[in-house]
Amino acid sequence: MGDGELRKRFEDVKSRIGRAAERANRDPSEITLIAVTKVFPASVIRDAYELGLRHFGENYVQEFEQKHPEIADLAEAHFHLIGHLQSNKAKKAAEFFKTIQTVDTARLARRLNDSGKLLEIMLEVKLSAEEAKSGADADELSQLITVARGCSNLQLQGLMTMPPWSEEAEISRPYFRRLRELARAYKLPHLSMGMSHDLEVAIEEGATYVRVGTALFGRRKKP
Ligand SMILES: *Cc1c(COP(=O)(O)O)cnc(C)c1O
Repeated sequence: MGDGELRKRFEDVKSRIGRAAERANRDPSEITLIAVTKVFPASVIRDAYELGLRHFGENYVQEFEQKHPEIADLAEAHFHLIGHLQSNKAKKAAEFFKTIQTVDTARLARRLNDSGKLLEIMLEVKLSAEEAKSGADADELSQLITVARGCSNLQLQGLMTMPPWSEEAEISRPYFRRLRELARAYKLPHLSMGMSHDLEVAIEEGATYVRVGTALFGRRKKP
């Protein structure tokens, strides 16, 4: 992909965010765009950084560990882990990421806390009955929040979710709405929800982080 192409896509995503925010009567500056760079090489992170992107999402600790030396000089880059994290990889994840968005067990929260590094975290909530999805059940959330709030190295920011995949963005709405209700009930300020195909719906339902890959970088090859 040429430089001009990424610039055009970035402008397009920004204007989608702006229009959705306007429809929802929200200030677009409340919404942070996370560029999802999984599977793409480190050079793509650098290209996006040069265009002004500062937040990046990666799914796999090991993949990011390999890319990291090439982009370690991007001083203002903020890296979010958005893929499932096993507790035996918590220490490594703490080394490479500033925010872990996929905390879904008390055990994982404690492991991250034990890394000794100050981390921002979000709790991943599973709101559909799909077998393969990770995330805490909504009824486990209260306990998980208590544990996370008791971890002095962890700053709990909010909730993250990934609805069942559908071409149709409206299918995501009830999941986004439910996440917002949960965040409100527990007084958590941030909501990470919405991807390339449903970011407008997510913003209408209160997203403060949207995680966008395909709309910025094109289709991914299978890892
Ligand atoms: C890959 C991924 C995204 C980005 O999805 P796109 O449809 O490419 O925008 C967002 N969130 C998570 C958790 C992902 O794994």
